[in-house]
Amino acid sequence: MIIRAAFIWLFLCTTSTEVLAIELASPDATGTFYRITIKDRGKIIKEHVSSLQVNGGELIFRSNAKPDYRFIPAQNSTPITGLGIGAYRAFISDRPFFYSNTLVQVSADGEHFVIESPNSISIEITKIRALEPPVVTTWQPPFHSELQSKYRTLASRVVSHFGAGRTSFRVRHLHTGTDLAGAPSEPVYPIGAGIVEFVSYWDFEGTVLVRHRLASGESIMSKYIHVREPKVRAGEVVTQDTVLARLFTNAEFKQSKFKQNHLHLEVRKDYSDHGHASTHSQNTNDLSKCCINPLTFLSR
Ligand SMILES: [Zn+2]
Repeated sequence: MIIRAAFIWLFLCTTSTEVLAIELASPDATGTFYRITIKDRGKIIKEHVSSLQVNGGELIFRSNAKPDYRFIPAQNSTPITGLGIGAYRAFISDRPFFYSNTLVQVSADGEHFVIESPNSISIEITKIRALEPPVVTTWQPPFHSELQSKYRTLASRVVSHFGAGRTSFRVRHLHTGTDLAGAPSEPVYPIGAGIVEFVSYWDFEGTVLVRHRLASGESIMSKYIHVREPKVRAGEVVTQDTVLARLFTNAEFKQSKFKQNHLHLEVRKDYSDHGHASTHSQNTNDLSKCCINPLTFLSR
């Protein structure tokens, strides 16, 4: 748990000499954030935190983690101040669905809006209280099970390094994170306190994204991929002791066809690509624009 002073120094130097692109998401005038939950046939597939802007008759849900979700009232007779019951035209480009001028119907239940669309996807928008995570001063590895004989050190878990050449996703690219092997169903923890920005329940790409506030007021993100059964919701403040999710069981690992049951740990200073740098980091220049080597400031 103890981070060496040299690593902290190195990390602070890195962050203080660069402008970080991630800004603190700003709540609207009422101090409200919105949790956007995407369901497919009633089952949650992913969710993220956003803030709402009303801009020229258009509602824009803006977030650190995802592209804008835009809604325009189908009949723009009265000036809009926020999301209400009625028909909207949706403009959303976010896997696995793409709405371009698609008619959707919004129903509301107090602070909770349900958007029914023409396909099996529904979008739920819930008002949540604006919270800011505590400032992080110490970092820790994403696993706490140091007593397991096989993995006494973080170094012994590393199965693929940050920046390693990759050919997955068809495009040749550099590895944006560090792959850490773990035991079946091993719990995964955040590397520091923060706020959950995004959660995906996608089978083999299950993901939790956490935003951390630095003393400078800027943020970085840590991303945990290849996890199952997320235990946290988007918008939740987590501490170093909050279980985020777990690694695959043996059966899930076999299904995945991965070489190792592992966590992909990624640390971001820029999320403007909405997490796609795995395929876009062609060289070290690309890589250093978005990502930081997680092992730079995690040591044991
Ligand atoms: Zn990886």
